[in-house]
Amino acid sequence: MRRAIYPGSFDPITNGHLDIIDRGRRLFDEIIIAVLVNAEKKPLFNFDERIEIIKEVVSNWPEVRVDTFNGLLVNYAQSQQAGCIVRGIRAISDYEYELQMALMNRRLAPEIETVFMMAAEPYSYLSSRLVKEVFMLKGSITGLVPSLVEQKMKEKLEVKPS
Ligand code: ADP
Repeated sequence: MRRAIYPGSFDPITNGHLDIIDRGRRLFDEIIIAVLVNAEKKPLFNFDERIEIIKEVVSNWPEVRVDTFNGLLVNYAQSQQAGCIVRGIRAISDYEYELQMALMNRRLAPEIETVFMMAAEPYSYLSSRLVKEVFMLKGSITGLVPSLVEQKMKEKLEVKPS
């Protein structure tokens, strides 16, 4: 059983994340999307909202599971008997941080391999942060996030107009 962890904040999940997960389905028997608890002090979507959204958008993929974690990622991976951590790489700027994390995680748990997947070209500039910024400034994010995410973001704006 090849099980991988795909960790992140996913605030919100974007089509870039989903592309990594979709391609990862060919590499692994099971992928656990692991949402980091308390990653950001002021997230757009609270923890439960993020989980709910992710569960909904991956509901057609039986090999994908959604879970939460806090503390050391390698400890969580070990607790799930996962041999791999999947990370997406967009620009060179991602590389340095990701390399540091991967090497530290290898030092902490040499049996766990970090697997990097290159972002798909159309999403290679896409980040959750940029999606939020563009949306708050009333720009279109159609095609960059699942329609459920767009809908939930619109609901947020209605509740809290800027
Ligand atoms: P984190 O807070 O750990 O950076 P994110 O939710 O931003 O978590 O991202 C989780 C993972 O998905 C990271 O490995 C990140 O590099 C990757 N990722 C984010 N956006 C994209 C994208 N557009 N294409 C490919 N990978 C992405």
